[in-house]
Amino acid sequence: MIEELLQIKNDAISLILSTQTTEQLEEIRIQFLGRSGKLNIAMKQLPKLTPEERARFGKTANEIKNILEEAIINQKSKLKNQNKNKEKLSIDFTTPSIPPKIGHLHPITQAITDTVEVFKMLGYQAADGPEIETDYYNFEALNIPKDHPSRDTQMTFYLDDKEVQTNTPGEIILRTQMSGMQARVMEKMEPPVRVIVPGKVYRYEQVDASHGFEFWQLEGFLVDKHVRLTDLFGTLDYVLKALLGKNIELKFATTNFPFVEPGVDTYIKCTVCGGIGCSFCKNSGWSEIMPAGMIHPNVLRNVGFDPKVYNGFAFCIGFSRLVTLKYQMSDLRLLSNPDLRIINQF
Ligand SMILES: [Zn+2]
Repeated sequence: MIEELLQIKNDAISLILSTQTTEQLEEIRIQFLGRSGKLNIAMKQLPKLTPEERARFGKTANEIKNILEEAIINQKSKLKNQNKNKEKLSIDFTTPSIPPKIGHLHPITQAITDTVEVFKMLGYQAADGPEIETDYYNFEALNIPKDHPSRDTQMTFYLDDKEVQTNTPGEIILRTQMSGMQARVMEKMEPPVRVIVPGKVYRYEQVDASHGFEFWQLEGFLVDKHVRLTDLFGTLDYVLKALLGKNIELKFATTNFPFVEPGVDTYIKCTVCGGIGCSFCKNSGWSEIMPAGMIHPNVLRNVGFDPKVYNGFAFCIGFSRLVTLKYQMSDLRLLSNPDLRIINQF
């Protein structure tokens, strides 16, 4: 009798362990532990047994019932885990993925690319140069000798070169203006020269809505025979309207810079306030965006061009300010703010 019970147990265990689904497992459970299951049928023989045999038989049947129930629970959780793993593995590789977040060009970079394209149409080449510059290229080659008062307007960052000992102290600086590239480029070229140089410049300046200690400029210069001041005006008018729209208003005012003769300041009607006056244009309604003028004969002489044969014009667009005006931003400092809520608006 006991052997019959053990046989039922062994059959049940081997069937439980071979199940692949919870439905199969449930069938096995009913087959062995259900009301008309094999264990209950075996129990029906109980009255035929002697009292001692009955006690032993009942105890064994109960133990087997517990063992089988436990085996079913274990198998059920094993099957569940297997299904989970199957779900993990059943990836549909053809499903379109979530597109990764990709960045975009910074508004300054976008504007530089646009500007280079506009100047290309006029036959200009774009050049690049060092941010760490010598006093000679930044100032002296541009007709700004060491004691010239205009140096005071370009608060300069001097680099510590005590360790190097190869340069006179104060000779190595962070470039204060992109105009320093004039001499570097013209030394290597013969007229006609038409070049623009976008880049970042540094000045030890008080920072406010329209001034920064690091900002972008775009230097441009043209050297040829018979160049006139009106060529400069026409070029700037064409370029600025191409970049900022046909409705902008420009005005030129005479001024004095050592590297140009005559020199002009270019103003654009403030696009932030529409000319009414705001903190960006210092309530004047106009924003100064570039010094310009006819290249001083001394600058041409410094690079080996004969000023009796050649002349030309130069201009230096305050590029950070131009971008601020283009997007009607009220503060130039927003351009160097890494906050994505700002950058993502462009
Ligand atoms: Zn304004």
